[in-house]
Parts: sequence; C-alpha cells; structure tokens
Amino acid sequence: MKRDLTCVACPLGCAITVEYDETGVLSVTGNTCKRGDAYARSEIVNPTRSLATSVKVNGGIYPVVPVKSNKPIPKSMIFDCMKAINSVTVEAPVKLGQVIIPNILGTGADIVATNHD
Ligand code: SF4
Repeated sequence: MKRDLTCVACPLGCAITVEYDETGVLSVTGNTCKRGDAYARSEIVNPTRSLATSVKVNGGIYPVVPVKSNKPIPKSMIFDCMKAINSVTVEAPVKLGQVIIPNILGTGADIVATNHD
C-alpha cells in the first residue's frame, strides 16, 4: 500500500510518500529530514493529534476555560477524550496551567487550562 502525506513537523510541508504493508512501513520518501521520516512512520503506525477545546466553569468570570492536551493523543481516542472533557465542569477559580483531567483515559496526556477563568 502507498500513502501520500504532507509533513506537518515544520512549515516547509514536504510531500512524503510512505509505502507499507501489514508488517509495517517499508519505505519513506520525499522527506527532507529525519523528523519527516518519524512523522510519516507515526502517521501509519500510531497517528496522534494534539487536542484543544474548552471546559465548563462554575462560578467564574467566563462560562468556559480553554484547555489543551499537554502531549499528543492517539487519533483513535480523540472522540472519547472529547466526550470525557465535555462531561467535566470545574469550579472557579481556574489557574493557567491547572491540570483539569490528569492522564485522560490512560493516554498519559493531561488536559490543562491554557488560560484562567
Ligand atoms: S520532512 Fe523535515 S523539512 Fe520537510 S516538512 Fe518535515 S520536518 Fe520540515
């Protein structure tokens, strides 16, 4: 099998082609550096995404506070993580960097506030 990707590891956006089969990645071409190779292999074997959204706040200045994952989350778990985040309401005050959900769904990523309430 063959898949064409655009590397998002830097603004250059190299066009990368990955050949793979059921045993794994066979070749990576088109990347300009090793980061592109790693990105392409990860996209085939275990694609991840950073997650940014908001969480409801009780008693704050604003009704929600922006949050993000402090490390990428497996793409296959993004929907379940969003459901978990949407089910949470935090009490004000919320501090910048406060951990809202530690180790969300066992991914190893914490959901942290990126602003205060
Ligand atoms: S392969 Fe390297 S140079 Fe090309 S976009 Fe990815 S990180 Fe940037």
